[in-house]
Amino acid sequence: MNLFNHLIVAFLPLVPKPIVRWISRPYVAGVELADAVRTVKQLNQQGMCATLDVLGESTLDPALCEEAIADYHRVLEAIEQERLDCNISLKLTQLGLLIDREQCRQNVRRIMQKAAACGVFVRVDMEDASVTSATLELFQQLHAEFPNSGIVLQAYLRRTLADLKNLTAQKTNFRLCKGIYIEPRTLAFKNPQIINENYTLLLERGLQAGCYVGIATHDEKLVWQALRLIDTLALSRDQYEFQMLLGVDEELRDLIVRAGHKLRVYVPFGKRWYAYCTRRLKENPQIAIYVLKALLGIKTK
Ligand SMILES: Cc1cc2nc3c(=O)[nH]c(=O)nc-3n(C[C@H](O)[C@H](O)[C@H](O)COP(=O)(O)OP(=O)(O)OC[C@H]3O[C@@H](n4cnc5c(N)ncnc54)[C@H](O)[C@@H]3O)c2cc1C
Repeated sequence: MNLFNHLIVAFLPLVPKPIVRWISRPYVAGVELADAVRTVKQLNQQGMCATLDVLGESTLDPALCEEAIADYHRVLEAIEQERLDCNISLKLTQLGLLIDREQCRQNVRRIMQKAAACGVFVRVDMEDASVTSATLELFQQLHAEFPNSGIVLQAYLRRTLADLKNLTAQKTNFRLCKGIYIEPRTLAFKNPQIINENYTLLLERGLQAGCYVGIATHDEKLVWQALRLIDTLALSRDQYEFQMLLGVDEELRDLIVRAGHKLRVYVPFGKRWYAYCTRRLKENPQIAIYVLKALLGIKTK
């Protein structure tokens, strides 16, 4: 971590909550479900689909898991009632992975059952490397029962090429991202060029194997690599989609949509927005630099 990053982490608790909320506004749809529904409707009207994430993670309190299950049930009802073009993304540590693995499986099952009844796809997000194996194992078990679900792979992890081989046999739907957590060099590539090359390799392997891939990136170099592969493999528009985070590089987002590709926006919302924002910034202060540049109107590319 460089000095600037250390300073961000040190001074973060001193930043008043309203200022953190103001800075995070473009990236978090709001506190209430109604805020999230409004955002998704706008995205749908602009030709994009979405995935809703009820903010929360790393809980050690079973009551908070119950709260998250109830929240996701309300989200699924809203998606059905409002006929939104939207699926859901969830984190296993929000649903008890750090408390008890079997209880977590039961908790996620309750959400997946409701999602199956509503015809909504469920994405299991990938968290830090301490839970990668547990997340993949639990997902495989759930996927056997709920095929309308998918997982996330992180291109920065050294293990991911091997993990992908276990998923391609069943043509599992996966989202491919670089990975957002700070991991040790023993587990993760640190060189940005290697991460990008690994991303391209994983994408190529996944698409070649016939997996539906959510190409999650705002890195135009990777978007170009994806477009190259889509063309080389002569893929049809229903074999992949692009995915981007709410509020990030809307210009690139529009370019992808206007070129006729499916694009899904990840829409986080909920009352745990403050913990989410501060934790993300502490874990990866680079995000603060992105946000600062966006606020000042400085283009990074
Ligand atoms: C839909 C989606 C879902 C994701 N799910 C997961 C997940 O489950 N697990 C996981 O570990 N990671 C997840 N990520 C995060 C991902 O791993 C990366 O950390 C993040 O997308 C940045 O990588 P990049 O490919 O955009 O490239 P980068 O080179 O990091 O970023 C390219 C450019 O995008 C902009 N940018 C990127 N991120 C941000 C940001 N947060 N705020 C403002 N500007 C930004 C900057 O301008 C930057 O220069 C997800 C990302 C997306 C898009």
